[in-house]
Amino acid sequence: ACSGHGVAVAMRTAAKVLEEHRDELSRLDREIGDGDHGENMHRGFAALVTAMERDAPDSPGGVLKLVAMTLISKVGGAAGPLYGTAFLRAATAVKDTGELDAPTVAVALRAALDGVVARGKAERGDKTMVDALLPAVLAAESAAERGEDVPALLRAAADAAAEGADSTVLVLARKGRASYLGERSVGHMDPGARSTALLLRTFADVAS
Ligand code: ADP
Ligand code: MG
Ligand code: MG
Repeated sequence: ACSGHGVAVAMRTAAKVLEEHRDELSRLDREIGDGDHGENMHRGFAALVTAMERDAPDSPGGVLKLVAMTLISKVGGAAGPLYGTAFLRAATAVKDTGELDAPTVAVALRAALDGVVARGKAERGDKTMVDALLPAVLAAESAAERGEDVPALLRAAADAAAEGADSTVLVLARKGRASYLGERSVGHMDPGARSTALLLRTFADVAS
């Protein structure tokens, strides 16, 4: 199970990982977008670390809600509102649970995906973060059904997200800035799918 403190540690670690991968994410976004995805994610999570230093909520839902509010207010562009909605839906889904168990994590991930899809209207294969998040949700739901614990569930989700991010290389972008490139978007990984895979890998590593 995973407490509010555990979720806060995961978010602080995510801030570090995104800082380490800032140039990589911006480089991916330079190929098919405007080159700011690394900066956007780093700015959002750095602001989150500052907000948590002031006042860290003690429930998982409280931390997730703070993540959402910070990303919505500090990250512009497409990714801010999309990730913001994802974390807000996840916060709502976990209600006031004190310790997240595997079925609750699966429900939260499904809620996050539904939020991204409601806002961005992307389908699997459109070359967006949905290509990483959707397979992660399916893997998480199967893991929960098999009775796996939170670390095993998150590892399965992270593996599926990594594979999903890899799959964006070969397809044509149909949503977001990259869609303006048409055929020229083929051959590059989607930066948002990559950042989703990085986040899920971090959550799995922290939980394990
Ligand atoms: P911007 O494109 O405004 O500069 P970012 O570079 O921070 O924003 O984020 C780009 C990422 O947002 C893309 O790589 C893609 O994964 C994601 N994205 C863009 N539009 C959508 C959408 N409609 N649905 C889901 N994800 C999207
Ligand atoms: Mg961009
Ligand atoms: Mg931008």
